[in-house]
Amino acid sequence: MQYENTKEQLEAELAELRHQLEEATDTIEAIRTGMVDALVVQGTSGHQIYTLKSADRTFRVLIEKMQQGAVTLNSSGVILYCNSYFADMCAITLDEIIGRHFDEFIGGYTAEKLSIVLSAEGLRDYKTKEVLTTNSGKEMPVQLSFTNLDMEDGTALSIICTDLTQQIEAQNKAADLTAKTEMIKRKDEFISIASHELKTPMTSLKAYLQLISRYSNDSIPDQFTMLITKASGSLNKLEILVNDLLDVSKIQAGKLNFSKTKVEISFLVRTCIENAGYMFPDFKLRLDAEGDFFVLGNQERLEQVVMNMISNAVKYSPENRNALIKVSADGDMVRIAVTDYGIGMTELQLGKIFDRFYRVDEASVLAGGLGMGLYISEEIVKSHEGEMGVVSNLGKGSTFYVLLPSIS
Ligand code: ADP
Repeated sequence: MQYENTKEQLEAELAELRHQLEEATDTIEAIRTGMVDALVVQGTSGHQIYTLKSADRTFRVLIEKMQQGAVTLNSSGVILYCNSYFADMCAITLDEIIGRHFDEFIGGYTAEKLSIVLSAEGLRDYKTKEVLTTNSGKEMPVQLSFTNLDMEDGTALSIICTDLTQQIEAQNKAADLTAKTEMIKRKDEFISIASHELKTPMTSLKAYLQLISRYSNDSIPDQFTMLITKASGSLNKLEILVNDLLDVSKIQAGKLNFSKTKVEISFLVRTCIENAGYMFPDFKLRLDAEGDFFVLGNQERLEQVVMNMISNAVKYSPENRNALIKVSADGDMVRIAVTDYGIGMTELQLGKIFDRFYRVDEASVLAGGLGMGLYISEEIVKSHEGEMGVVSNLGKGSTFYVLLPSIS
């Protein structure tokens, strides 16, 4: 009886083993022919086989081609699968990375931590920022996004790994830019307040000097009269600087407003030449005006533009103390051109001189200034629907010109 039972038992066991063997043979055949992907991992309790059905090949191609790392881990943190992008991120070949511990690249992700991650509620939304250490020891900021996978052989984790280097660089750049913009804003505010604050005592000083100079008592020594004239000259220079600073802050704030009337340009240029005669007595200005030209503009502001062209011609012509001012028609525009025979400029410098506060290095040696004149002049000309330009030859001289729409 015992024998029969044993025989039956043995036959049953044999049938069962045959069945298992057939299944195993089928699985091996499937792995061999590429129908099933498998990975053998040496664990503490012997070899373990992980299989992944490759039914949806297009999906796998998508993962392989995507520009983010995709990794699948078993519950002990062994990399079962990853795309080549992740392998590249880790600076290691695909062959070498499979079977390695995730923890080797992103520290802290031990089996213990993974079991917490796996049991966490709402795992689908589990995102975290970490530092990936590549095989060569370089560090890379990354974002990990976890999802658990129910596979035939148990639960595994899938991780999408995004390189944050560029994003962090862009954020840093944006923060830098915001800080710089903020600094420029504060500097503009400072210029605006400082120039207003300077203007008040300067106006009083000017009035006091005028009072002193009008004092008609014969007893004022000649030396004092000379000193008063010098003080007035310095004050005028200071006034021009402060007014320029004020103009710059008005332009920045979009508040450079002025009224316009009918202005005759040849007359305006003659007035400027007359003023320049007092200011720069050793400099010769020749006028070539082809007639009378009218524009709709602000007399004072246009004089400011012409005076700036003249004073630059004077400042930047240390040897040849001559310049030519030509007023002519240019289509339906009036052209005012100031030609000097001074230091001139290179093409590179020409591209920058209308920028705020820009000065050519050599110019600073020759004359003082803050690089505001041309910036303000161009803004004034633009507000007259005109344009400003320059033609220059290094060492030979420059022609600065202004074009303004003429009216009849
Ligand atoms: P500033 O003369 O106060 O420096 P501007 O805005 O009027 O400011 O001029 C800007 C720069 O352009 C000058 O510093 C100088 O380098 C250059 N520049 C202007 N006019 C001339 C000129 N006629 N010849 C040579 N360089 C000039």
